[in-house]
Amino acid sequence: MAYVYDDQNIFARILRGEIPNKTVLETEHSLAFHDIGPQAPCHVLVIPRGAYVSYDHFTAEASDAEILDFSRAVGEVCRMMEVSPAGTGQGYRLISNTGDHGHQEVPHLHVHVLGGRSLGRMLEALD
Ligand code: AMP
Repeated sequence: MAYVYDDQNIFARILRGEIPNKTVLETEHSLAFHDIGPQAPCHVLVIPRGAYVSYDHFTAEASDAEILDFSRAVGEVCRMMEVSPAGTGQGYRLISNTGDHGHQEVPHLHVHVLGGRSLGRMLEALD
């Protein structure tokens, strides 16, 4: 298994400060910011600061501290964006598109946090 990371991808450039972002949360190992093309009232991307292309790459090679930080950052964003049903929210969906079948556009691990409206069914059924 060989993971290849392109350090010219747009999220790597955001992490280096070369491109602006609308930051929601910064932690030691993670960054969350608003998606540039929101598909729901809440559409935030959470990324690790490390050079990981996918969730499977991240969990294979990241440190426990990075994984803990990232996992907590995703949950914190759900609370901050008030989409958690434990607070005033009505729920949310986490998506991490990966590879060709996942229609991944940016080859740096990211979790989409979507909410603020009903998101419909998860996938269309196969014919
Ligand atoms: P995907 O890789 O398919 O999960 O999608 C990448 C996501 O990144 C899309 O939802 C884009 O709208 C979003 N995106 C691309 N460029 C930027 C940017 N500069 N700032 C914020 N979001 C971005």
